[in-house]
Amino acid sequence: MARQVDVVIIGAGSAGLSAMSEVRKKTDNFILVNQGPYGTSCARVACMPTKALIEAARACHGRHFLKHLGVQGTESLTIDRPRILAHVRRLRDGFTSGMINSTAKLGDKLITGPARFIDPGTIEVAGRVYKTAKTVIATGSRSIVPSAWHRLGNRVITTEEIFELTDLPDTLAVIGLGPAGLEMAQALARLGVKVTGVEQGAMVGGLSDPEVAAGMVDILRAEMAVHTGMTADLEPAGSELEVGLGKEKIRVAKVLATMGRRPNLEDMGLENLGLDGEAGGLLPHDPATMQLGALPVFIAGDANGDRPLLHEAIDEGRIAGFNAVSDQLARFRRRTPLAITFVEPNIVTVGQRYEEISNLDDCVIGGHDFSIQARARMSNSNQGLIRLYARRSDGLVLGAEMAIPAAEHVGHLLALAIQQKTTINELLRLPFYHPVIEEGIQAALRGLSTQTDQGKVSDTELLLCGSHVDDCLS
Ligand SMILES: Cc1cc2nc3c(=O)[nH]c(=O)nc-3n(C[C@H](O)[C@H](O)[C@H](O)COP(=O)(O)OP(=O)(O)OC[C@H]3O[C@@H](n4cnc5c(N)ncnc54)[C@H](O)[C@@H]3O)c2cc1C
Repeated sequence: MARQVDVVIIGAGSAGLSAMSEVRKKTDNFILVNQGPYGTSCARVACMPTKALIEAARACHGRHFLKHLGVQGTESLTIDRPRILAHVRRLRDGFTSGMINSTAKLGDKLITGPARFIDPGTIEVAGRVYKTAKTVIATGSRSIVPSAWHRLGNRVITTEEIFELTDLPDTLAVIGLGPAGLEMAQALARLGVKVTGVEQGAMVGGLSDPEVAAGMVDILRAEMAVHTGMTADLEPAGSELEVGLGKEKIRVAKVLATMGRRPNLEDMGLENLGLDGEAGGLLPHDPATMQLGALPVFIAGDANGDRPLLHEAIDEGRIAGFNAVSDQLARFRRRTPLAITFVEPNIVTVGQRYEEISNLDDCVIGGHDFSIQARARMSNSNQGLIRLYARRSDGLVLGAEMAIPAAEHVGHLLALAIQQKTTINELLRLPFYHPVIEEGIQAALRGLSTQTDQGKVSDTELLLCGSHVDDCLS
């Protein structure tokens, strides 16, 4: 006998759990199906352990600045890498335990096993059949490892495995320098691993602006070998690996494969949904409703391959869950895009990216070089570049790409400005304290304002009150 439920949520990750929080506001008759470890990918193997490792690596890297300042004895500092990994796992276990506890209380609403569609309203899990009015697919994604590398065994690892190591190898190649690869590469280099980074394109860390990316690659080369525009061939070499990079060959103990992620959609019976999307490819979904085609099925988080970031997965889960228990589909406004890569200097893209605006006639670009930025010089972090994009006709701020100190905070400020549809001159009316990193943004805005159709507006003109006396009161 099939069990009849209102909603099946497939995947107990961040998107699935946020879908569940919406669903249970309207019905108790749902099930959450999960295959694989509980605790969410973010807390277990992604956002949280990577940032814990990065913070440890950053602290270790600080010894170079101390030496520069004249602090004695930094050369004799040693890094206990097994202890650092244990510290990361301890923090990670704290983060996952909250999630695990919340699913553990679900009783017979929690089903463990792979879910498979028999048709859009029928799902089979571990030999049992469920009839459902609506379904949310939130099965996440996993690292791509070329099948030819499977024969290399545990010499090729991914971010799913690296935090389980009890020690780090002395040599390692990171293949793929997108956000995850770049974060890991710099952190491991700072922990004393001899890192070689390989990227087939010219862009790193999620950037699309060639000037920012080229500057970032130069900065990275001070800490590790970086090969861009290269594909890596791997061959076994005793207990190690030989990495072929064109004519050059290097030997490493391990390879970390960070070549992108693939939605977990295989073997789910998606062919029984009657959709046009290719098997294993991206499925046709509406980002404002999360609906899959015209089906009573929603797809949220990394599973839809659209915006593979934690805050987006949570939003998408909420949208999917809300619509799964509503009579009418609601359309939702999405937030201004914001992506951060936690390297030093931080990489941020916010609003429209360079690749989206570079062909627009009505667009101006302005930048600021942080190698000369006063506050950054004091903290020895004076490197990198910000490029801001605005509309020529009215100075509306469209987006930015940057690799600059404290960009994780600057990026949030700019996201706020972009989402509020702010112009360059409105931003220049705001206070900029001294001496702060944000003065670099002020300089970029000033440069950008001269290129707009309004031309440069002086601070005096910007601060001039309107004719009404209330305009001057704040
Ligand atoms: C190394 C790394 C670092 C990252 N750092 C950041 C960061 O700093 N900030 C940020 O915003 N984002 C970051 N991300 C991205 C972020 O982690 C993901 O976008 C987010 O975790 C996706 O959540 P999700 O719910 O879609 O997937 P998940 O949390 O993976 O949940 C999917 C669940 O579905 C289960 N499942 C899979 N297949 C099936 C099936 N057939 N049946 C039943 N259950 C199934 C899985 O086992 C899992 O429990 C990072 C990603 C990586 C890889």
